[in-house]
Amino acid sequence: MTQPIPELLAPAGDIERMRIAFAYGADAVYAGQPAFSLRGRENGFKTVADLGEGIREAHALGKLFFVASNLFPHNAKVGPFQRALSEIIEQGPDALIMADPGMIAWVRHEFPKVPVHLSVQSHALNWITCKFWHDLGVERVILARELKLREITEIREQVPGLELEVFVHGAVCMASSGRCMISNYMEYRDANQGNCNNACRFPFELTATSPDLPPGESIRVTEDEHGTYLFNARDLCALPILEQVVASGVQSLKIEGRTRSPYYLAQVVRGYRLALDAIAQGQPIPPEALAAVHATDARGWMSGFYTSDDPLPQNLEADRSGALRSEVVAQIREWDPARSRLRISVRNRIMEGETLELLTPHGTKTITATNLVNQKGQKTEKLHSGLENCYLDCPENPPPHSFLVRHLF
Ligand code: SF4
Repeated sequence: MTQPIPELLAPAGDIERMRIAFAYGADAVYAGQPAFSLRGRENGFKTVADLGEGIREAHALGKLFFVASNLFPHNAKVGPFQRALSEIIEQGPDALIMADPGMIAWVRHEFPKVPVHLSVQSHALNWITCKFWHDLGVERVILARELKLREITEIREQVPGLELEVFVHGAVCMASSGRCMISNYMEYRDANQGNCNNACRFPFELTATSPDLPPGESIRVTEDEHGTYLFNARDLCALPILEQVVASGVQSLKIEGRTRSPYYLAQVVRGYRLALDAIAQGQPIPPEALAAVHATDARGWMSGFYTSDDPLPQNLEADRSGALRSEVVAQIREWDPARSRLRISVRNRIMEGETLELLTPHGTKTITATNLVNQKGQKTEKLHSGLENCYLDCPENPPPHSFLVRHLF
């Protein structure tokens, strides 16, 4: 029995990560519009030409490319935003991801053929809001993360014809789908202008006072030696309940993380691709899918608000999770056929003779790290993190976008 499955939509922080997302099985990517998306500081698509290159390459592969233009502009930014959007639209993106009602209405009027997806920042929580946006010509709504699966199914039934997209993986805001002022209050860095400083992840110091204490004294309340993590949300991972998410009838499953590393992106996209391919065939999700996702760094996982039986969204114990089971040790740059060896960028220390996993878009295999050569061309017992142009033996040419990985336990 086969089942229709939603599009797998991955973040593209730059063109390299777009290529990795597609190689590991994404159907579509989203990238930020320079200066007018909510990843203002770390966007690797710096110009309209960069986006145009990405869009053309995606289309040549038969894939989709969405542009996040989801800033809420102040008055002074409206004109520049409009001019920039006009240039982006000329590049032929498959949709614009937008949040500001005025800007959406302007695009619908000026460019009626350009599909608009409503950004999660607009916090669509119910069917009547979704119908409102659909009536205004919005093709797809990216639903607020706070919804239960039964509410999503109801929205699909109440607003037929509207495409629905949901987040399945990645970091979440402790604020209601992005409506947060912590960063703005602390450092004048407005999250809704693309400048969030991730203040919710900071360790805070909590003190209790009491009339019983001497004047000026208080009791420090801490969870570890660094402080407390009042607002530190676990990361979303809906993989264990992905069959239920697919059954809710959504059209697109979105992975968060335009600033995440190429390795993170490869493993997470691979995990969800394996799971979706299994679901499409009526098979259970293979353990390899969860292992791929758990091979990445996270703040602990939860499956969000989709069901009622999750752990608490807040990770009160620590700012990171101890669940990291693998780590990338090198990104593979090319294979040297003359000497049957790989040129690598070292990401974590590699020791001569240790067992590593070769992660490729087509699967994994075990190799032994032998004949390590450092960036000076000298044989060595150890390669340190951060070194470029180092080498180790590999008898065959791995596919592009492959990595070397170490299992930690
Ligand atoms: S500070 Fe945290 S909750 Fe606020 S916008 Fe940034 S990531 Fe979201």
